[in-house]
Amino acid sequence: HLAIASLDQVDPKDIWQKDKDHFVHPWTHFDSFKKDGSLVMGRAEGAYVYDLSGKRYLDGIGGLWCVNIGYGRREIAEAISAQALRMAFYNPFVDTTNVPAAELAAKLASLAPGDLNKVFFTCGGSTANDTAVRIAHYYHAKRGKKSKKQIISRIDAYHGSTYLTGSITGRPADRSPYLHFVDDLVHHVSSPNFYRAHEVLPNGVGKGMTEEQFCDYLIEELEAKILEVGPDNIAVFFAEPVMGAGGVIVPPKGYHKRSLEVCHRHDILYVSDEVVTAFGRLGHFFASEAVFGIVPDMIVTAKGLTSGYQPLGAVIFSDRVYEAMSAEDPDGWFTNGYTYSGHPVACAAGLANIALMEREDLNGHVQKMGPYLEQQLNTLLELPIVGNVRGHKFMMCVENVMDKTTREHFPDAVNIGKRISDHCEKLGLIVRPLGALNVISPPLTLSKEEVDELVSLLRQGIEATMADLKAEGHY
Ligand code: PMP
Repeated sequence: HLAIASLDQVDPKDIWQKDKDHFVHPWTHFDSFKKDGSLVMGRAEGAYVYDLSGKRYLDGIGGLWCVNIGYGRREIAEAISAQALRMAFYNPFVDTTNVPAAELAAKLASLAPGDLNKVFFTCGGSTANDTAVRIAHYYHAKRGKKSKKQIISRIDAYHGSTYLTGSITGRPADRSPYLHFVDDLVHHVSSPNFYRAHEVLPNGVGKGMTEEQFCDYLIEELEAKILEVGPDNIAVFFAEPVMGAGGVIVPPKGYHKRSLEVCHRHDILYVSDEVVTAFGRLGHFFASEAVFGIVPDMIVTAKGLTSGYQPLGAVIFSDRVYEAMSAEDPDGWFTNGYTYSGHPVACAAGLANIALMEREDLNGHVQKMGPYLEQQLNTLLELPIVGNVRGHKFMMCVENVMDKTTREHFPDAVNIGKRISDHCEKLGLIVRPLGALNVISPPLTLSKEEVDELVSLLRQGIEATMADLKAEGHY
């Protein structure tokens, strides 16, 4: 009876209670969870989700930056169902495979830039980044450079939540004092956040810098870090084209090209973490080359790969790396992989997702509608607490400040992002709070009317929060 086709038999209170008593959520804040439990979502269609009371929300965050094609797409459900009936699973280890995995690997190779023609499937983004480290280590060691194992990442980066990828992640807020991190393997350089240049560079040296000077600083800092750790000790550099969870940070112009050049000069592999930026969010299947003009050594992706209809991640890497890894060697066994690497049902969902994106030209839609979303969100800068609107196409955020000139944030206790998202939720819009920010990453299918609705509800949510803050004497 748990196979619920309709929600009619579901008692909302019962589900809420079961969830509260038994489901330990990812990234739980225990105090607030114990007090409030969770909002239970029941169904979804297009760009809208409905909770168990039937209340409708415009999903301004696309599930979690992932439901790119929108909800309720019958052809994805049918592809999943057909593959589950044909063959739900067979193991991908060593010398067996399946039809959707082979087809999807070939399709990804055709969409990825340059000579990125090899695909390693994983269960999601974290396991893909973890695998990218393994590939880098194997690649260097196989070439006789076993000392190259250190990892360089950036403050504010988000790369996942396994032990290692949680350590590569550089968001200060993600460092629970009750967890341990692999600090002897990972080094972080500064965040490329130009709006906060005065804070993100040491000793406030970013204050008053132009964007070009800021970029020069970051590139010099990266090279200095490489020389300090020693190029012979460094395997890999990780970078999201646009940082997501760290605050939707678009780096200064030329940053990626120049960092890639520095990495290659020191024989360091460059991983472009496109878990969020791929599959149309920035208007292209992959953003690395199309938006930022780089062909990295590896692209890591997940999320939009299946639009969240199935869990799936992938590392897409170069022929050059593969050839070195796979050079003849009796000990040449890449002992890395998961039961569900190349899962046939997940890969069938990925293939159907890409076919749908191509048929509906969703990249073309984002190229047209993205600038409109950006333009409409920019009108929020009229509001006294909106300090910055930034991002690219369907990956945007609003940064709220107490003082627009100094860019000073409200005190943490105000919890500004959460308060705005709570108001928006009441109004029927979901926007993710991230400290002082609200993130917008909706399904890519949004019509002009839905963009208008999103921006109007967000404006109302911010205005309602401002009224509260005024009444409380915060400004
Ligand atoms: N990399 C980036 C850039 C991400 O945004 C995320 C997830 N938000 C991950 C990696 C981790 O992916 P997953 O949660 O699927 O493990």
